[in-house]
Amino acid sequence: MKIAVLPGDGIGPEITAQAVRVLRALDPKLEMEEAPVGGAGYRALGHPLPESTLKLAREADAILFGAVGDFSLDSLPRELRPEQAILGLRKALNLFANFRPALVYPELVQASTLKAEVVAGLDILIIRELTGDIYFGQPRGIRTLENGEREGFDTMRYSEAEIRRVAHVAFQAARKRGRRLCSVDKANVLDTMQLWREVVTAVGKEYPDVELSHQYVDNAAMQLLKNPKQFDVIVTGNMFGDILSDEASMLTGSIGMLPSASLNERNFGLYEPIHGSAPDIAGKGIANPLATILSAAMMLRYSFGQGEAADRVEAAVRKVLAQGLRTGDIAEPGVTAVGTAAMGDAVLAAL
Ligand code: NAD
Repeated sequence: MKIAVLPGDGIGPEITAQAVRVLRALDPKLEMEEAPVGGAGYRALGHPLPESTLKLAREADAILFGAVGDFSLDSLPRELRPEQAILGLRKALNLFANFRPALVYPELVQASTLKAEVVAGLDILIIRELTGDIYFGQPRGIRTLENGEREGFDTMRYSEAEIRRVAHVAFQAARKRGRRLCSVDKANVLDTMQLWREVVTAVGKEYPDVELSHQYVDNAAMQLLKNPKQFDVIVTGNMFGDILSDEASMLTGSIGMLPSASLNERNFGLYEPIHGSAPDIAGKGIANPLATILSAAMMLRYSFGQGEAADRVEAAVRKVLAQGLRTGDIAEPGVTAVGTAAMGDAVLAAL
C-alpha cells in the first residue's frame, strides 16, 4: 500500500507527522511519500496543487491530507489560493462521497455546548455528496435584467446516476454500523430532491437489512439539536450536507477531534481532519493531532479494508483521553495541556 502524504500549511505538517508515526507503528512496510500542497505547493512549485503532487496522489492507494490555508496568500488570484488544492483533488480524483463521523467521547461530553444527556454517547455518520448539486450546476451567474436590476442564479441539479452511487455508498456504510439510514432532502419543494427521494428509495430495495427513513432538511436541522442520537447514518446532497455536517460536528464541541474521508467508487480516498490550518497556533507544537490520527484510522477502514487496525487506533485514542491527556483545545479549565508530539507519543504507547 502506498500513501501520498500531503501535509499542507500551518499546523498541517505537525499533525500529519503524528498520524504518519501511528501508521508506521501499525505497518512498518507501508510506503509513504510526501509532497507539497496548498500554500506550501504554491511556494515550492508555483501552484497550490502542483502537477507532481497530483501525480503522486493519483498513483497512491490513499491520501493523508493535513490542512491548507495561508492568509498571507489571500491576495493571489482565486485559482492560485491554497484552498483550491482540495477542490482540485476532489475533482481530479472524483471523490464524490464525503464521510463525516460525529462522535462524542465520554471524557469530552463537557466540551459540547449542548446538555450532556443530549450528546453523551453520540455516534453518527453524515455522508455528503460532494461533486454535484447547486455548487456545480449550470447555468449559474449574475445577469442584468431589462429593468437594469441584477439577478443572481444557480442551478440545483442531480442525475439519477449521481444519486444512486452515493446512495449505495451510504447503504453499505450503514451495513457496517447500526443498519439505519436517514436520507435528508427537500422533496416537498424541490423537483431535484423529489428525484433524490425516489432514487434513494429504489436503491433501498437492494438493502432490505437497512432501515431507511426520510427527513426534510429543515426538520433534520432541528432533530440534530433536539435528539441527535436518533440517527445512525445520514445521507444528503452537497449543499444540505455542507450545512448539516458542520452543525453535527459542533455537537461534539471539539474541532481538533473530528476526522473525515472523501471517497470515490473504488474506495480510493482522501483522509483529512475537518479543521483548517489554524495559523494562530501553527509552529507552536500545541495543535491537537487526534483528528488526523483518527483520519488515518478511517483510511485503514475504508480504503485498506483493515477494520481491526482502525479499531485499534480508535481504542488507543479513547485510552489516552481516559488517561486524562488533553491538548489545549479540549482541556477543561485547570488541566495542564500536552503538546502535539506528546499526544502522538501517548497514542503510540496506547497502541
Ligand atoms: P481553523 O479550523 O484552521 O481554525 C479555527 C480555530 O480552531 C482556531 O482557533 C484554531 O487554532 C483552532 N483549531 C483548529 N484545528 C485545531 C487543532 N487541531 N488543534 C487545536 N486547535 C485547532 O479555521 P480558520 O481559522 O477559519 O481557517 C484557517 C485557514 O484554514 C484558512 O486559510 C481557511 O481557508 C483554511 N481551512 C482549510 C480547510 C482544509 O484544509 N480542509 C478547512 C477549513 C479551513
